[in-house]
Amino acid sequence: MGELKAAVVGSGFGGLAAAIRLQARGVRVTLFEARDKPGGRAYVYEDQGFTFDAGPTVITAPQCLEELFAAAGRRMSDYVELLPVTPFYRLVWPDGETFDYSGDAAKLEAEIRRVAPDDLEGYRRFYAYTKKVYAKGYDELGAVPFLRFSDMLRVAPDLAALRADRSVYGTVSRYVKNEHLRQALSFHPLLVGGHPYRTSAIYTLIHHLERQWGVWFPRGGTGALIRGLVKLFTEIGGDVRLSSPVRRIDVGPGPRPKHTVTTDAGRDDFDLVVSNADVHHTYAKLYRQEPRAARMARKVARMTWSMSLVVIYFGTTRRYPELAHHTILFGPRYKGLLDDIFGAGVLADDFSLYLHAPTVTDPSLAPPGGEAFYVLSPVPHLGTAAIDWATAGPKYADRILEALEAHLPGLRASIVTRRVFTPADFETELGAHHGSAFSVAPLLTQSAYFRPHNRDARIPGLYLVGAGTHPGAGVPGVVNSAKATVSVVEKDFVL
Ligand SMILES: Cc1cc2nc3c(=O)[nH]c(=O)nc-3n(C[C@H](O)[C@H](O)[C@H](O)COP(=O)(O)OP(=O)(O)OC[C@H]3O[C@@H](n4cnc5c(N)ncnc54)[C@H](O)[C@@H]3O)c2cc1C
Repeated sequence: MGELKAAVVGSGFGGLAAAIRLQARGVRVTLFEARDKPGGRAYVYEDQGFTFDAGPTVITAPQCLEELFAAAGRRMSDYVELLPVTPFYRLVWPDGETFDYSGDAAKLEAEIRRVAPDDLEGYRRFYAYTKKVYAKGYDELGAVPFLRFSDMLRVAPDLAALRADRSVYGTVSRYVKNEHLRQALSFHPLLVGGHPYRTSAIYTLIHHLERQWGVWFPRGGTGALIRGLVKLFTEIGGDVRLSSPVRRIDVGPGPRPKHTVTTDAGRDDFDLVVSNADVHHTYAKLYRQEPRAARMARKVARMTWSMSLVVIYFGTTRRYPELAHHTILFGPRYKGLLDDIFGAGVLADDFSLYLHAPTVTDPSLAPPGGEAFYVLSPVPHLGTAAIDWATAGPKYADRILEALEAHLPGLRASIVTRRVFTPADFETELGAHHGSAFSVAPLLTQSAYFRPHNRDARIPGLYLVGAGTHPGAGVPGVVNSAKATVSVVEKDFVL
């Protein structure tokens, strides 16, 4: 066979990782990105000397990134420096209780002893459980494709033994009694778009992943990591086309059809396409001409989609020396608020917030004496709540900043730049179905074989990568999805 040509649609972490792995295997890869900068959800805004990472900020499992650089014969440290973040998160409740969540066993146990001394033994047993889940769910199954039902049957006994049918919150509650500690150990599904009471206990593996591998932040921001990946890809010969939305893809005849990719610049034929675009967009828009795509478009439209977010990026002229890099401000309600976010169809009056203050770790992201922030609030996606975000967004942002002022005195008077990103922006800027922030929700019934497959079952030469395919959202998830997807391409095209 002559030289293989692949189109990767989308430059999120998943698209970049797939593009690098394919290019490193000798495939000629063209990466099409609709926006003017790479990164997808990891886009970067620069306003008045402040640098704002738009999306991922908690970098876990650095080994999967290291492995990606190694796949192209490089070392990550030659491209980007990862800085450790301590504590991983500071958790704050309305009653004034705080909890510094870190990877250091002695410090973490000291915090547990302080807030919930009776739960220390239970916590240790929980940690032992998460270690087993991690070994199975991440190490063994996190980067292998599930293309056949038999793949699922093979792992079913293990999943049953680990009680994957239970939820994260339900599982945590079997080990610890203190409600603050239960929340501290169960909020992680929110980082990948899941309701802690509905997401499979398999996701407790994130706790182990963080403790074992740490939480990191790239010097220069997550954008510096994206730039490192783009540099690597172009150095090994990859072709990046920014501001190049793919308008449609047509599939030729035969068992090894050409895929004709149309952009505003013209048309080009490829032997295979790896789509990193939203999975509904891929089937309903890009392949809309293709009868074999219609069934998947209907199927993914029926799936449960993860929630959306309102994110406010803002820069201040003053610093807050007491801050942690990552703070989670729990609201007065936990389950009730989660139920409102995941399907009740209302925008609740209360909120739980995640506050990102990257200047704690890297002051270069703001002008001297200033602080760069973002704060995000999970909200219903557009399919569940009919909210006019053009008017609701700014008001909601005002309420959030007002609430933050209790933690950051003098905040609003010191803000010099502000930008609000709502579910409507997820839909228009990123082509996200329902404006979902994390794609198809991480339910057990939508995981592994039950998630859209890394290789399409009916259209030869079409592969998926990113949050909508196995294993799912989050930087480690989508980087591992690229490994799974490229392993299938390698088999199919005998690379
Ligand atoms: C605010 C926020 C905070 C987050 N925080 C964290 C975190 O701290 N840690 C973590 O691990 N995860 C986090 N996540 C989740 C994580 O960012 C995502 O799951 C992951 O980045 C998604 O990557 P992806 O490969 O699926 O691609 P995406 O980032 O979704 O990128 C897809 C790309 O495809 C492009 N595209 C779409 N259609 C077309 C087309 N027709 N033609 C060309 N290009 C197209 C889009 O423009 C986009 O660039 C966060 C997400 C958000 C939104």
